[in-house]
Amino acid sequence: MTTSKDKRIKKFKRKRIWPSIFGMLFMVFISMMLIIIVFAFSVTDIVQRKVVNAEILSAEVAGLFEGYGTDEETANAIRERAAVYIEALDDVEDVYVTDKQGNCVWSCYENRPDTDKMAEFEFDTGYYSVQHNIIIEEDELGIIEVDDRGAHLAEDFYDKINFEELGKRAEESGDIPMYTSVMDFSLWYVLDVDGYSVYVLNSLPVYLSDLVGVVSMAVVLAMLIAVFALYYIVSFVGVVRSEHRTSRIIYTDMITGGNNWFYFIKKGTPILKKNRGKKKYAMIHMRMYKYRSFCTCFGVRKGEELLEKFYHVLRRKMRKKELVAYHENAEFGLLLAYTTREELVQRIEALELAVEQSIPNIKLYFGYGICEIEPKEHDIEQLYNNAFTACELLEEDAERKIAFFDEEMNKQRLWERKVEDDMENALANKEFKVYLQPKISAAEEKLAGAEALVRWIHPKDGFIPPNKFIPIFEKNGFILKLDDYMLEEVAKQQAEWISQGQEIVPISVNVSRAHFTREDLAEHICEIVDKYNVPHDVIELELTESAFFDDKKVLLNTVKKLRESGFPVSMDDFGAGYSSLNSLKELTIDVLKIDADFFRNVEEVERGMLIVSEVIDLAKKLNMKIVAEGIESRDQVDFLVQQECDLIQGYFFAKPMPVDEFVQKYKHS
Ligand code: C2E
Ligand code: CA
Ligand code: CA
Repeated sequence: MTTSKDKRIKKFKRKRIWPSIFGMLFMVFISMMLIIIVFAFSVTDIVQRKVVNAEILSAEVAGLFEGYGTDEETANAIRERAAVYIEALDDVEDVYVTDKQGNCVWSCYENRPDTDKMAEFEFDTGYYSVQHNIIIEEDELGIIEVDDRGAHLAEDFYDKINFEELGKRAEESGDIPMYTSVMDFSLWYVLDVDGYSVYVLNSLPVYLSDLVGVVSMAVVLAMLIAVFALYYIVSFVGVVRSEHRTSRIIYTDMITGGNNWFYFIKKGTPILKKNRGKKKYAMIHMRMYKYRSFCTCFGVRKGEELLEKFYHVLRRKMRKKELVAYHENAEFGLLLAYTTREELVQRIEALELAVEQSIPNIKLYFGYGICEIEPKEHDIEQLYNNAFTACELLEEDAERKIAFFDEEMNKQRLWERKVEDDMENALANKEFKVYLQPKISAAEEKLAGAEALVRWIHPKDGFIPPNKFIPIFEKNGFILKLDDYMLEEVAKQQAEWISQGQEIVPISVNVSRAHFTREDLAEHICEIVDKYNVPHDVIELELTESAFFDDKKVLLNTVKKLRESGFPVSMDDFGAGYSSLNSLKELTIDVLKIDADFFRNVEEVERGMLIVSEVIDLAKKLNMKIVAEGIESRDQVDFLVQQECDLIQGYFFAKPMPVDEFVQKYKHS
């Protein structure tokens, strides 16, 4: 099923699953990016602010060392002030001062800067230009705040601070967790002060309180993402559920409630594709006959219930990797694994038994077409079609109800298609030719009549005998047109010969049983023949005996009317059917054509001859002429002459031949 049907199912099923998934992924991606960007910007901002703060503080602290070392007292005072700063300012952890030679002249806690690694952090000496506008003051909690409100640090601030008290209050206030650092990094700032290098170690902790903004933004974003995610999850679940429902609708058969034909194809194809010859598979077309009559008797609903029951019985009997589905018109498709043909036939019979037992009081009739599957075949539709073709060749009431598909059947099908494609053109192009087979009078062995038999001279395929296309035309109704054409050609021919003043003999044409559905058949025939002003008695109409099984009323009426109009009517293939004698009782006709089959079976030749002689006798008593058909030997001719048979038609005298040849042989001799 790779065609438009397949595409249509796919299109039908293709719901908005992917848009949902892509939408969700896109949203998650965008949100993540947003969070990362916001976080990065915020943290950078925090750190930057911290760094600027640290730079200002470092410059402030380094400024203390101006004039360091001029005398011992100043140096001590400076050290003391520096120590106070360091202790008071949380962010300044240590100061380390070196002289020009790099020797340490003062350090508060003796942290040593790692000068090798310091290059990257080296502080721009222009920091002296940074305004020393820092003020450290105590808020109402006693917590020291450093800000830049423009006043210089009071020298005596240290005395004002009660550190112990401050720590205690901060702890009590519960603010401490907010001041727990979540990130900590230290920076050495190096400043040149009066020839000394002042290294200020800054700790730059990032507190939770610093992150409040970022965190709340992240929370808001996370909530947004959650809302979107929820929306997408809900819509995704909805899509999945509706997809599931659509699948069920697409693959459920409305009559049986089971899997339908699409499902069969969908599941069957991979089973066959994956099977590399390990198992043998067969496609079975199972057909219930007389389903329509069942529906007429019991109602369509009961009929559908019956099919539903069958489906479930069959379904239960399927083994692993076997399939069954209702197809249409009381037909099921089955994909069965098997080992031998015998085993397969037994399996089918067992399935039929199970189905029959589910409806105990009703006699059911089934036919099966089987297509054995070659390892690489997987076109379910084609295989089913093959199985169907095999089943088509079974007669409904025949004993045989299981047929295996073979390539010949396929060829036959293809041929039928070709014939159907070409027939209209062939008729228009006069590709159908009249061949005439002489009928010879038994007594004088002289031409006494002829039968018109059609031949198809195909422009590509050449000569085609009637048995290759007549049965097809009989099925599709084209025989009506062909027979009219033949009748007209024969009438035309007779008219031509009459106008030439030639002696003519009656020519018979075959009238297919398909004609006996039209009540005005006799009028129709007259109309065609009368176009050419031909006396009716030179055109004989051969009806096949099997026409008797159709609409008897039309047949009897038509024959009556035709005979009244002067057309001789003959019964073709007498003896080939079943109710020969019976038909003679009801039907008055002029000629009886006895089938040559009576002579063909060597073992029963004598019995055949006996019957023929009796039939001839009977025909004579009923005032009918006898034509013996298919006569191939002198013995047969002698026998017929002896039995006083009227006319003989057969290869012994001549095969059917084109009109020209007939003229040459019989008209100018
Ligand atoms: P049919 O009407 O029974 O015609 C007699 C068939 O027996 C012809 O086959 C003829 O060629 C063949 N035949 C004649 N003598 C002998 C013989 O000695 N031995 C053997 N073995 N066969 C002999 P053909 O022409 O192939 O036609 C086959 C059938 O096709 C005809 O059987 C007839 O039923 C049908 N048919 C032919 N032409 C037409 C037509 O124009 N219209 C209709 N409706 N059917 C036609
Ligand atoms: Ca015939
Ligand atoms: Ca015949």
